[in-house]
Amino acid sequence: MSLVHLLLFAGLVIAASASPGSRLILREIADQKDKAVELNTTNFDSVLKDTPAKYAVVEFFAHWCPACRNYKPHYEKVARLFNGPDAIHPGIVLMTRVDCAMKTNTKLCDKFSVSHYPMLFWGPPTKFVSASWEPRKDKSDILVIDDGRTAERLLNWINKQIDSSYGLDDQKFENEQALSNITNYNQISQAVYDVEEATAEAFDIILVHKAIKSSETSASFIRFIQLLAARHLSRRCRKGAAEILVNYDDLCPSGNCSYEKTGEKNTLGNFPICGKDVPRGYYMFCRGSKNDTRGFSCGLWILMHSLSVRIEDGESHFAFTAICDFVNNFFMCDECRMHFNDMCSSVKTPFKKARDFVLWVWSTHNKVNERLMKDEASLSSGDPKFPKIIWPPKELCPLCYLSSNQKSIDWDLDHVYKFLKNYYGPKLVSLYKEKSVLESKEETVPETEDLTVATNALVVPIGAALAIAIASCAFGALACYWRTQQKNRKSRRSWK
Ligand code: FAD
Repeated sequence: MSLVHLLLFAGLVIAASASPGSRLILREIADQKDKAVELNTTNFDSVLKDTPAKYAVVEFFAHWCPACRNYKPHYEKVARLFNGPDAIHPGIVLMTRVDCAMKTNTKLCDKFSVSHYPMLFWGPPTKFVSASWEPRKDKSDILVIDDGRTAERLLNWINKQIDSSYGLDDQKFENEQALSNITNYNQISQAVYDVEEATAEAFDIILVHKAIKSSETSASFIRFIQLLAARHLSRRCRKGAAEILVNYDDLCPSGNCSYEKTGEKNTLGNFPICGKDVPRGYYMFCRGSKNDTRGFSCGLWILMHSLSVRIEDGESHFAFTAICDFVNNFFMCDECRMHFNDMCSSVKTPFKKARDFVLWVWSTHNKVNERLMKDEASLSSGDPKFPKIIWPPKELCPLCYLSSNQKSIDWDLDHVYKFLKNYYGPKLVSLYKEKSVLESKEETVPETEDLTVATNALVVPIGAALAIAIASCAFGALACYWRTQQKNRKSRRSWK
C-alpha cells in the first residue's frame, strides 16, 4: 500500500473543489420564472465552464432596449426547452443572456464586439470561456446567430446546427433524443454528471427518510461515505464526503443525526455531499425515454461500477461490504435490496483482489438484468428504448465473448475486466478531463486525477502525512485519522 494512498483522506479535505457557486447559480436562476441564465462578468466563465450542456447560446442585450424586451418572450420560449430541471431537452443547449447596459458587463460585451442589441452567439460552452470575438475573424468556434428573430427561427437555426428536430411544442419525453444507442462506446462519458447526481440524490433520500436510525445504519453510512471520500470519481463529491466524515460526531452525536437543510446549524442537511448545486434535477446518460424510467437507479449502478474499478486489491472487501450494507440500509426499494442482499450473502470468501470485486458487481448487475428482462417483457414496464440486456453487448466489447448462443455466453473474463476498467475508468471521466484541460490552465486536473485520487494527497503537510502513514491500510488510515480527529476535538472541548 503506497504512502500516497494513506494520505488521501487528509488530502481530500484540503483539496480544492471546482468553481464553487457556478452550478448553484444555474439552479437558482433556473428555478426563477425566466429560464435563460443571466450571466455577468463574475459568473460568465464559471457557468459556461461547468455546464453539462454541449452547446451554448449567449444573448447580449440591454435592458433599456425595446426590441430586446419584445424579443425576450421568443428567447424564453426556446430557453424553456433546454434550461432548468423542467427542461424538455436538458443538457443539450444552455441558453444565457448578458445585460450590456450594466456597467460591470461593459468589458465582457466589448470582448465580443457587440454591435447591436440583441446580438446572439452560438458555440460549445467551453469556447466562450476567457474568449473574445471579432467580426472579421476567419475561423472561430463561436458563431453569430444571424437568423433568430423569432422563437421559431431561432430554434430552426439551432436544429440546423445540431441536426435535430426540436419543436417549440415538444413535451417532456416526447420527441426524445435519448442516448438509446447502447453500442456507442463514447456515450458513457456523459454519465459523469449522473454519478454526481445519483450520489447527491442518494444522500438526499437518506436525509428525507431520516434513515440513520441505529448504530448499524450509522456504521453503514460511515463506511459508504469513507468509500466515496476515497474513491468517488468526482473531486467535488470526494471533498463533500470527507467533510461529512470529519464532522460526523457533531452532526450525528450518538447516532442521532440532525437532518434539517435550513439555517446556519451544523446539520447533515447543511453538508451537501457533491456541493450545493447538485442534484441538478436531471440525468444525462441515464435519462429514460419515459418519465418514470431509468434515472436514479441507473445512476446508482454506474456509481457502483465506477467505484469498483477505482479501488485497490486491499480495499476490495471493504468496498464490497460498504456497497452491500449501503444498498441494504438505504436503497428504498424493498424488492431491489432483498435480491441484492441475497447476492451479497452468497459471497462466502472475502474478496482479496479488486479484479474479483469488479467482476462481482458486473455479474450481479447482469443477474438483475436477466431477471428484469423477463419481468419487463411480461409487464411492459421497462423503458422501450432501453430494453434490459446481458451486458456488455458484443458490439460494445467483441473480445469479451469467447462464444455465445441463445442460452448462454462464455465470457473471456480477462477481457471483460479490461473492458470494465477502461469503460468505467478513463472513458467515463474523459469528458470531465477534456473540459478541465480545455477550460482552465490554473485548475488543470492532472492526467490521473480521477483515477488515482491520491494525487491530491501530496498537498498534505509532511507531519500529518507521516502520522497517517503509520496506519496500516488506506481505509484503516481513513477511519483511524477520522476517529483521532474526533477524539482530539472532543478532548479539546472538555479541557475548555
Ligand atoms: P440499468 O440496469 O440501471 O443499468 C445502467 C447502465 O449500466 C446501462 O445502461 C448499461 O450501460 C450499464 N450496464 C448494464 N448492465 C451492466 C453490467 N452488468 N455491468 C456493467 N454495466 C452495466 N429493479 C427491479 O425492478 N427489481 C430489482 O430487484 C432491482 N434491483 C436493483 C438493485 C440495485 C442495487 C440497483 C442499483 C437497481 C436495482 N433495480 C431493480 C433497478 C434496475 O436494475 C435498473 O437500474 C432500472 O430498471 C433502470 O434500468 P436501466 O435501463 O437504466 O439500466
